[in-house]
Parts: sequence; structure tokens; C-alpha cells
Amino acid sequence: MTATPTDDAAERAAESLAEPAADRTAGHTEHPLARAAAAGAADPGTTLSTASTGTAGTASGNDSAVAPDHDHAALHSSVVDWFDTHARDLPWRRPEAGAWGVMVSEFMLQQTPVARVLPVYEQWLERWPRPADLAAEASGEAVRAWGRLGYPRRALRLHGAASAIAERHGGDVPKEHAQLLALPGVGEYTAAAVASFAYGQRHAVLDTNVRRVFARAVSGRQYPPNATTAAERRLARALVPEDDTTAARWAAATMELGALVCTARAPACDRCPIAQQCAWQLAGAPAYEGPPRRTQSYAGTDRQVRGRLLAVLREAEAAVPQSVLDRVWQEPIQRARALDGLVADGLVEPLPGGHYRLPRG
Ligand code: SF4
Repeated sequence: MTATPTDDAAERAAESLAEPAADRTAGHTEHPLARAAAAGAADPGTTLSTASTGTAGTASGNDSAVAPDHDHAALHSSVVDWFDTHARDLPWRRPEAGAWGVMVSEFMLQQTPVARVLPVYEQWLERWPRPADLAAEASGEAVRAWGRLGYPRRALRLHGAASAIAERHGGDVPKEHAQLLALPGVGEYTAAAVASFAYGQRHAVLDTNVRRVFARAVSGRQYPPNATTAAERRLARALVPEDDTTAARWAAATMELGALVCTARAPACDRCPIAQQCAWQLAGAPAYEGPPRRTQSYAGTDRQVRGRLLAVLREAEAAVPQSVLDRVWQEPIQRARALDGLVADGLVEPLPGGHYRLPRG
């Protein structure tokens, strides 16, 4: 069965590009840190670029983000010091992972929890230690190796990125944010994350974990808006430390704080390094008053049917007849729709005579 994202699984998810008309975060800036960020928001130099597939903002080298004031510096040191002591030892954080290891992990972690990613990541890097190794194989092998991580289009996109790296960059993951962003399947978030985590550059890496930490600690809200707002991006940029090294640590540290301490359902404020500075805590932890939060269902959805169909094809070395696929789901219209969707997405290749297989291209 295809993976069902948990609440935490969606923490790093690529978020909706929809931009709510109301700038709700900007309208709630009583906390000193949020005020500083709001000041930065008025600076044209902090305008964020946006891309078609991602959501993160980036603080590029020519970005004149707000200079850290005392509060910013205290926040940075508290979170980074905590990270120095509490960061998980994850394989993509080790020096030997390299930029390719970081990129693979970022694709996998976008909608799947760490525990499920770990074994697939290890096998992936063992089989394809360089982008060119993956590019040399059929895209269907990437889909097969993706296993049950869910959202398997990510496997095709990663294969496409590996091919472009092999063709355009001599097999090395590029360092420049713009070059990363130009790779297929790489959006703002992934480009910023790879540039920051692999190359130590200064970028605002804004995933759902980080959005939640900033919403609480700085904006005094229990949850961020459903879709990332321009104000959140400005806030994230305003909070990026000035020097590259601290900025890269800050990006990883805020993400880890959201994953381990400031979790969606049960924040562990009693062991939070910024509890004394947290706007939401200082305000008495007011209840969430925004629109209903998005939840992801799975059972009975087309995603579940797609997962079952793909599981059969992943296990098969030869083409699979329609009659075998028909056994995975009783309802014929939904089953046909799911199969058509897989074909349209390039995840399944239809063959003459009603047979199907993973793509060989
Ligand atoms: S004090 Fe609690 S709510 Fe505030 S940032 Fe820390 S864990 Fe999150």
C-alpha cells in the first residue's frame, strides 16, 4: 500500500502555491521579532522570487534582509545551540552524503517521515551513488526503488533531475541556486535546501516545520495559514542570520526544532530552547482561530488505488496483464481512473494487448 502521509510527514511537504488574498501573518505583528520582520517586508530588497513547483523563499546574496537585532541574535543562538546538542544523526547530514545525498533526501522527505525514508535512502545511495548512475537507468527503476514512500512522481522527478545533472553539469549537483532551480522537479524549497544544507549558503528554507515554529515563536499563532503567504516568506527572510555558516545552521535547526519539539499536535514547550521568547507561549497559548486545517485522507481515495496498482507493477519484472491489475480494486470506474492517471503521469507504460509495466524510458 502506498504511504499515507502523517501529520509530520507533511511537515516538509511542498505546499500549495495558492496565495490567500489576506495577508494574515502580516496583520498580527505585536511580537518584537515580527515587527522587525514587518519592517523588512517594506524593504523592496526583500522581495522573494517564486517558482512554479516550490514554496520556499530564498535570501540570495544580494538580498538586503533586515539586519539581526538583539532579539534575532538571541533567537538564533538559542535554536542553533540546541541543534548542536540535539540534532539527529541522519545520513544525509553526514559529510560523506555530499550534495547528491542531500538532494535525494530532500526529494524523499518532502512528503514522507524520516523513519520511512531511511531504509529507502540507504538502498538508493548504495545503488546510485552519483546522479549519473541513476540517469543511466530507466525511469521505471527509480519508480520501483521508490517503494512505498508515496507520491511516486517524486521518483520520476528525481530521475529527471539526475539526468539533467549528468548532461548539463558534468555529473555534479550544481552549487548555484539558479542552476538548482533550473533542474526538472526542483522548486524553490528544494533549491534553497540543497544550496543551504549541501553548500552552506545563506537561504531561507521554509518548510512546514519551519512555518509552524515561526508562526508560534514569532507571530504568536498556533498554526500557520494553510498555504504559505508572502508575509511568511518575508518573515523567514528577515530572520535569516547574516553570515552563511550561521544561516545554514539556522535553516537546519529551525526545521529540526519543528520536527522534534514544536510539533503540530503536541509541542513540547517545557523542553523548548526558545520557550522564554515564544510569542504564542507569552500570549498564553491562544487557541487557533483560523480556517479549518487541511487534513489528508487516504482510505478509499484514488491515491490508495494508484498505490495498489503501482505495487503490483513494482513487484513484476515482466509486463502485467489488465486482468491482474483488475484484482487490486473492486470498483471499476475508480480503478480505471487511477490507472489512466498513472499512465498520464508517466509512471506506467501501456503496451499493446492490454499489458502494463513501469516505464523503460
Ligand atoms: S515554546 Fe512551544 S510553541 Fe513556542 S516554539 Fe517552543 S515548542 Fe513551539
